[in-house]
Amino acid sequence: ATTTAFLGLGAMGYPMAAHLARQAAASGGRALVWNRTEARAQKHAEHYGSEAVSLAQAARADLLFTCLPTSAEVDDLIAALTPHLRPGTVWVDCTSGHPDAARRQRERLAALGVKFLDAPVSGGTGGAEAGTLTVMLGGPADEVEAARPHLAFAGKVVRVGETGAGFAVKAINNVLLAVNLWAAGEGLAALGRGGVDLGAALSVINASSGRSNASEHLIPQRVLTREFPATFALGLLAKDAGIALDVVQSAGASAPTLAQVAGLIRAASHVVGPHEDHTAALKLIEQMNRQEIK
Ligand code: NDP
Repeated sequence: ATTTAFLGLGAMGYPMAAHLARQAAASGGRALVWNRTEARAQKHAEHYGSEAVSLAQAARADLLFTCLPTSAEVDDLIAALTPHLRPGTVWVDCTSGHPDAARRQRERLAALGVKFLDAPVSGGTGGAEAGTLTVMLGGPADEVEAARPHLAFAGKVVRVGETGAGFAVKAINNVLLAVNLWAAGEGLAALGRGGVDLGAALSVINASSGRSNASEHLIPQRVLTREFPATFALGLLAKDAGIALDVVQSAGASAPTLAQVAGLIRAASHVVGPHEDHTAALKLIEQMNRQEIK
């Protein structure tokens, strides 16, 4: 029977770890959880039958999952766990991290006999709750295959390349989300200023070639309603867009559109606030146009 530990029970980690607890209950394994703010781990244990443990106890797991804001927090946890880790453990990092950090982290953990896979996810908090996340993995094929059966929160699992490739693909995916969201926001602000009904405009766009996840789901559900529910922080999207620019740079690629949108998302995070939902980036477009998108 397998023992898993999940460290970082945030908006994503909390529901992801619930699927590990269900899998453990079904297979006679154990699902350990740890969170910096301990009360959240206690609550998880009460709700899902996971076991709230100390960091030292979590380090004894066969598979160690992390889902933290950035690779910097993962580095801190690696340092904290180093005295307790044992050879054979697999560290599966579901953070949307940095490819350079993944390569460093893999090397650092290899010295302790611990394997590291970058395994960021997409699908949002809804996908985490439903257990239908897409996981993009970077690392050796045999290690990815060994981890695959344990990803109980996944609907789709794809090995995208060697260590760091998972983080690279995730960053590019999210800068594309930023591009689609931002571009749709600009277009709708212009139509709104011209007196067009935005509900009618979206019903056309969403039956046409200009549609995107932003136009089909995010903007109707979060922006037009003025709800902006904070499930994915704008500051985290700005972080992802920044990583995407590093990916572009280190490949010697040219991606001026991505760079421009990354700059705009960073500006929106400063102006609107990093803890607001990522869709609240469009409030900067509203200010730029003196026009609400509603
Ligand atoms: P949250 O802010 O909701 O959660 C962050 C988690 O990290 C919390 O458990 C928090 O603990 C913990 N944490 C923060 N700082 C530290 C630290 N210094 N040491 C230890 N633990 C720390 O973030 P999300 O769950 O939204 O995002 C997590 C990762 O997943 C990010 O990389 C994000 O980009 C990515 N992601 C997010 C998606 C989303 O829709 N939200 C979708 C796909 C990927 P505490 O409770 O104590 O604050």
